[in-house]
Amino acid sequence: MMERRTGTTTFDCFIGGKWGPSESGEYFETTDPFMAAPWALIPKCDARDVDKAVGAARQALEYGEWANMHPSARGLLLRRLGDLIMRDADHLAAVEVQDNGKLYAEMRGQVGYIPQWLYYFGGLADKIEGAVLPIDKPDMFSYTRHEPVGVVAAITPWNSPLLLTMWKLAPALAAGCTLVLKPSEFTSVSTLELMRLFEEAGFPAGVVNVVTGFGQDVGEALTTHPGVDKIAFTGGESSGRHIAHSAADSFKRLTLELGGKSAQLVFSDAEIDNAVRGVVSGIFAATGQTCIAGSRLLVHDAIHDEFLEKFVALAQTARMGDPMNTETEVGPVTTRPQFDKILSCIESARAEGAECVLGGKAANRPECGSGWFVEPTVFANVKNDMTIAQQEVFGPVLSVIRFSDDEEAYRIANDTAYGLAAGVWTKDHKRMFTAARKIRAGSVWTNCYRAVSYMAPFGGFKASGIGRESGQEAIREYLETKCVWIDYGDEQPNPFVLR
Ligand code: NAD
Repeated sequence: MMERRTGTTTFDCFIGGKWGPSESGEYFETTDPFMAAPWALIPKCDARDVDKAVGAARQALEYGEWANMHPSARGLLLRRLGDLIMRDADHLAAVEVQDNGKLYAEMRGQVGYIPQWLYYFGGLADKIEGAVLPIDKPDMFSYTRHEPVGVVAAITPWNSPLLLTMWKLAPALAAGCTLVLKPSEFTSVSTLELMRLFEEAGFPAGVVNVVTGFGQDVGEALTTHPGVDKIAFTGGESSGRHIAHSAADSFKRLTLELGGKSAQLVFSDAEIDNAVRGVVSGIFAATGQTCIAGSRLLVHDAIHDEFLEKFVALAQTARMGDPMNTETEVGPVTTRPQFDKILSCIESARAEGAECVLGGKAANRPECGSGWFVEPTVFANVKNDMTIAQQEVFGPVLSVIRFSDDEEAYRIANDTAYGLAAGVWTKDHKRMFTAARKIRAGSVWTNCYRAVSYMAPFGGFKASGIGRESGQEAIREYLETKCVWIDYGDEQPNPFVLR
């Protein structure tokens, strides 16, 4: 069992390489979801802090050490930071758990894996190559340069704060950008703690800055600031839509990683025990609070009853409790508003006629303490047009929908506003490739679920987002292409016609 911090710790924000309170001098509380009690005080930043942070990031981008640093040296800094995170992974993971209530076992795994993004993108930093163009003009030399897009505003949600921060930060720094980070108001501590390691790694002042506070004030000030060139946002669909509108006003570059209503398709030839485990991992791991939650189970008629029986039997055994305990399998919901939202989604599913076959209520087990726990919940006989099958719950609630042939399964899987991920469970190789082609989602996992890698592009189709994180293509999200023309001819041609 990992220890949680006791008492209330007060944190500073980090702007221009300096630690200090916000301009307002005000703080807000962050709460431990298992104890349902505050454990830290976070500076309440506003537009003035944002202005300072963007100014510091712009200064670092255009002048001084970072602006003139060779990409190989940038890569070295990233790799050094990776080593420091590895060194402090136990501590950072415990901080994450105290802030967001996810399992220590899961968060320790995530934090221990984060350095790989820094090693991978650190390695890419000096491999950003332009091209010499075999240009079709006489006496002309033409080449491309890929330059940093500029100052990046990186805004993250509460469910995997450090991992999702790193998905933005590592490629942005490798590209030579500078950043202002805005963590979720529910989980700011780990991002602030990460800044200690930035300093230790030796990043110049202003390269990365952190402003803390609420979406509607500090987030809004950041996404509308004229000094920001690009927004990299992970969060909910409605915030994403709002940010996309404000980005359009000043043509800021934009990456959006939003929500999902991902389907798990279990075909009649599936290896049932494995599929049961995979569907459990998709919806009950992290208490269902993941963008990639496999919240719609599409199961073939022929195996529906057997599958559901085995699934419920396994889900019933999930151990709930203190997320710091490495034996726990299902932890609390991160925030009180999210807890209330999940329970209201459950009520509306009942009201629309879905049949609750497991859970369906808050968990009041002794091992849940005073935390915000919801019982793993399964609704059977769901129709895909019910609200519970269309709306992202972001909690441990599974909707079970039947299908009778493959085409029907693909049609139901795609009948959603979202397109983040899907799971396919089959032994038939032809079906594996067909499903991967027919499902409109950014990740399709076959006979597995919830696998991510620094090498693998991640992102959504449709309302699940714009752009990709991780993998080689992620670095392009932080670069602008410039085309350079050099005329080495003796004479300028006719000035009144296009060359
Ligand atoms: P949220 O949209 O409420 O908040 C996310 C972040 O945006 C927070 O830092 C918040 O302060 C900020 N924010 C909110 N309104 C803003 C505004 N008007 N301007 C600027 N910033 C603003 O989301 P959440 O509840 O923290 O997280 C849950 C959501 O995130 C879910 O929908 C989930 O699917 C999504 N998510 C997506 C991914 C992915 O990679 N696709 C990963 C994790 C979570």
